[in-house]
Amino acid sequence: MVEGSITRSDEIARLMDIRRRAKVLVALGSCSCFGGVNRLKNTYDLNKANREVYGRNPKETLPTRSVKEIVPVDLGIPGCPVSKEEVERIVQHLIWELPIRFPSYPVCLECKQRYTICSFDQGQLCLGPITRGGCNAPCPAGGLGCWGCRGPAADANYDEFFNIVKERGFSDREVDERINFFAGFEGVR
Ligand code: SF4
Ligand code: SF4
Repeated sequence: MVEGSITRSDEIARLMDIRRRAKVLVALGSCSCFGGVNRLKNTYDLNKANREVYGRNPKETLPTRSVKEIVPVDLGIPGCPVSKEEVERIVQHLIWELPIRFPSYPVCLECKQRYTICSFDQGQLCLGPITRGGCNAPCPAGGLGCWGCRGPAADANYDEFFNIVKERGFSDREVDERINFFAGFEGVR
């Protein structure tokens, strides 16, 4: 199981060695699966940032990549943090060589099951309709709306989602910032 995104050459070498030795390689967490929050740094000039922060002693820092961008991955378990119950279930299924399934429904389903008042009805943005469920929707329940840490739900209706957020008055910039936060929705717009 490999956690974290890849940003240095020694990590690439280590990861390739892990891949050679591993029967099953699992990307664990949003950074490992998508690049995660660390991927935000790819929008900056890294040389300039390095000079500003470290002056004459720059550190090696490559653009952030997910594990699957370096080596083939057998399984990804996204989440920031990951769900303890989901990891336990998947480890059991790997050991017993049982099929591994993820929820196909979006975060909204679990959000409604716990009777949370919808974030949109409180004037907040939420990625729940397009994000894979399985976390039990803690962020809308905590008043934050979903930030999409588990990546896309199966067959997410992006057109309808983007219509709704527009109708509710959220700007393209707000929506893009939210969608790009964990980097799990690359290419959806
Ligand atoms: S708060 Fe978010 S996850 Fe919950 S029902 Fe509303 S849109 Fe869906
Ligand atoms: S509600 Fe959204 S951001 Fe929060 S844990 Fe679930 S998928 Fe991640």
